[in-house]
Amino acid sequence: TSFAHFGFDEQLMHIIRKSEYTQPTPIQCQGVPIALSGRDMIGIAKTGSGKTAAFIWPMLVHIMDQKELETGEGPIAVIVCPTRELCQQIHAECKRFGKAYSLRSVAVYGGGSMWEQAKALQEGAEIVVCTPVRALVDNHCGRLCHFTYWYQVRSIASHVRPDRQTLLFSATFRKKIERLARDILVDPIRVVQ
Ligand code: AMP
Repeated sequence: TSFAHFGFDEQLMHIIRKSEYTQPTPIQCQGVPIALSGRDMIGIAKTGSGKTAAFIWPMLVHIMDQKELETGEGPIAVIVCPTRELCQQIHAECKRFGKAYSLRSVAVYGGGSMWEQAKALQEGAEIVVCTPVRALVDNHCGRLCHFTYWYQVRSIASHVRPDRQTLLFSATFRKKIERLARDILVDPIRVVQ
């Protein structure tokens, strides 16, 4: 698969070329067409596999489709992640690629300036990248937080309209966690790298 297979427009391709990515990574080859199709997905891929871009690129395409229908209605995409560092990284990627269409991303996480985050949200953004729990600053709290995290993701999803598309990515999925996660998915395609 080459980038041409994804059918991205010139604005997005321009930024991908500027990133000096010569070809899509395996998770991108498999995940991008699924995400573009609108299906829900579980992606199991390690850090560094290129999974962030695998969901950001299709998200941008869908936001642009959606934007013509609704304007000024608040965020169109919500990205939830477990740590502040990840939140900042994903937000940076959203800004980098979102520039293709002048889309705005806001990062919301515990420990950041609440006032600034609220202000950014009020000014308007198509993308929100957030961590659900204040306490989850690092990966150190282990098993309990893992469950707490997924319960919170489920709770956030319950506030998003039911015809949403949901994509879940993780380096690992224990059986119990995957069962919990599947509650918010509709007939997902499972991709393992
Ligand atoms: P991840 O944490 O799985 O999202 O991987 C992110 C890293 O992979 C970042 O350093 C990206 O710049 C890099 N990356 C993403 N897509 C590609 C690609 N198609 N070719 C080369 N590097 C990529």
